[in-house]
Amino acid sequence: MVVCVKTGRIQLSEQHFKSINSELFVVDRQGKILFANSAFCTRLGLHRAAGRRFLDLLERSGRMRARRSLEDALKGEDQIEEYTFFNGAVSVMKLIRIGSDETTDLVAGLSFVSSPAVHAKAVEGAQDTPSPDAAALVYKGLSLERLRLEHRLRRAQLKHKEALKASNTDHPTGLKNRAGLDRDLQKEVVQAGAECANLFLVYIDLDDFKFINDTYGHHVGDRLLRAIGRRLRAPGNVVSAARVGGDEFAVLARSEEKDPEAFTELARQVWSRVFDAIRIDGLSLNLTGSAGVSAFGADAFDLETLKRNADAALIEAKRSGKNQVRLFDAALEQKRARRKALEQGLRHAVSKETLEPFYQPIVPGKSDLGIGVEVLARWQDEHLGDVPPDEFIRVATDCGLLSDLDLLVARKACRELKPLVESGQVSFVTFNVSPMVLSRDDHVDRFIEAVRCCGLSLENICIEITESDIFPDFEQAKATIATLKRAGIKLALDDYGTGYSNLRALLDLPVDGIKIDRSLMTGVANDERAMRVVRSIIHLARVCNAWLVAEGVETAAQVAVAQAMGCHYVQGYALSKPLAFADLETWLVRQAESQKKGEPSQGSKQAISLA
Ligand code: C2E
Ligand code: CA
Ligand code: CA
Repeated sequence: MVVCVKTGRIQLSEQHFKSINSELFVVDRQGKILFANSAFCTRLGLHRAAGRRFLDLLERSGRMRARRSLEDALKGEDQIEEYTFFNGAVSVMKLIRIGSDETTDLVAGLSFVSSPAVHAKAVEGAQDTPSPDAAALVYKGLSLERLRLEHRLRRAQLKHKEALKASNTDHPTGLKNRAGLDRDLQKEVVQAGAECANLFLVYIDLDDFKFINDTYGHHVGDRLLRAIGRRLRAPGNVVSAARVGGDEFAVLARSEEKDPEAFTELARQVWSRVFDAIRIDGLSLNLTGSAGVSAFGADAFDLETLKRNADAALIEAKRSGKNQVRLFDAALEQKRARRKALEQGLRHAVSKETLEPFYQPIVPGKSDLGIGVEVLARWQDEHLGDVPPDEFIRVATDCGLLSDLDLLVARKACRELKPLVESGQVSFVTFNVSPMVLSRDDHVDRFIEAVRCCGLSLENICIEITESDIFPDFEQAKATIATLKRAGIKLALDDYGTGYSNLRALLDLPVDGIKIDRSLMTGVANDERAMRVVRSIIHLARVCNAWLVAEGVETAAQVAVAQAMGCHYVQGYALSKPLAFADLETWLVRQAESQKKGEPSQGSKQAISLA
């Protein structure tokens, strides 16, 4: 239904008609109400107004005047009636004839009783009795008490709405915040129903926002966030856009098609719009970032899964090279399930101490050096089987278990190796230490304590640190390493030649040894460039007076080249894979026997110092 109020300008749909705040009604020639909006019903406390006689709803004293106005309106004269009552509160009514045909002549009425702000003043301090000059057009039952209550309710409602809006808004960007997004998600997901698969959630993460803040200042950073906010709000298919963290955004959007390709394409459009160059204060900033997408009704059927999947897709996008859009898929689901199982299993393994140390011999190239062993953790889970260390070390790092894991492995290893070290079969023991653990004050003390408790001399212990790992917090790493060094522990740089190959580590850290990465050793026998890199590392080691280990040597040719080039130690499958303790004992016995026979690659029993 369209109600046409013939001012020549207003055309109201039924929805508008109902939602308008003032009282709207349409009466026929007999004054019978044909339509009334909800404001009219609320004002008069009626459930339904249609069918009632308009004049019956007015106070008796105002009826004569209203009847005349209705008649005049029917003659085509616009009527505006203004009535004052209750100490200045105002009621205004406008009546207009609508419809041209005599038989269908109707009158549309619009009335309001003050505005909340105006009658707020009017009712302030007013008494509950009408003023002497109160005129009469008052709807029945419209007492000052009711006006006051209505006003208070409106004000409370307004405040509630404002508070709600503020609590759901991220003020720097004007977008929704996390709570606001949650509300929108809730609403949309409930509306969409489980089968609807055209709603999708995109999480977006900026790559270098901290760099922009640090380099250009926070005012540029803030303006950048606002600009991104505008870009995210603009697209038509966006249902809700939010900032959910410092530099993390979320977009809930709809697609015309229920097709994963379409979601990815739309998400890509949003993503590329956000990461278009932004000009601020004459600066042209080229941002990059990643996005993860989850589709409701496709990969997620409830809200929590939708959010979790978008997050998992984002993490995957960041892991696989950043600056890309990634849709959640079954492979990710499997990954997540495995990750969860790993985390649970690992917690159990650490608490039940079921992780075991394995030992890989580090064999000296010259006979005046002793054999060393690198301790490598092994985990065999009853459900997951053998889990590769790279995988469980990453999980342990992420869930804060690494320090306990490393200490557990160190304690077990020291206990097992003590007799071998005391007998001189093993000259030194190396442990891998991760950066996350290095930044913990207590870890180093606990590590030193664990070695001491087992009765091993700290002089026989070396820790291996990957060069690239220490740089994120170099100063902290330096302080921790100093503590280790004071205790007599040696330090080796692991996987050298792959990361930064930064001179700073060699200059600023008390490095005793360098382990040349396997990737370089693989090419060393037949690739001139790999050979040159290895030679330059050997040269660096000489300058720093550090010993060298060629890691991951798999062939006799690589062993020969490493030794010929002057590497002090060789480690790799060509000599031995990592071994369980019993196998290490056997290997050492055999090694000693072959040394007696004068075979190559035998180690003597001296300490690791090159001096
Ligand atoms: P990494 O410190 O570089 O250890 C050397 C890795 O190379 C070991 O893998 C070893 O088994 C492997 N490897 C040794 N020789 C050869 C070879 O000739 N060829 C090939 N292809 N591989 C060889 P693993 O045991 O799987 O350990 C992987 C990484 O996990 C280690 O790399 C280390 O960073 C970390 N890790 C292992 N155990 C521990 C631990 O107890 N604590 C910490 N924090 N990290 C550990
Ligand atoms: Ca290592
Ligand atoms: Ca290594």
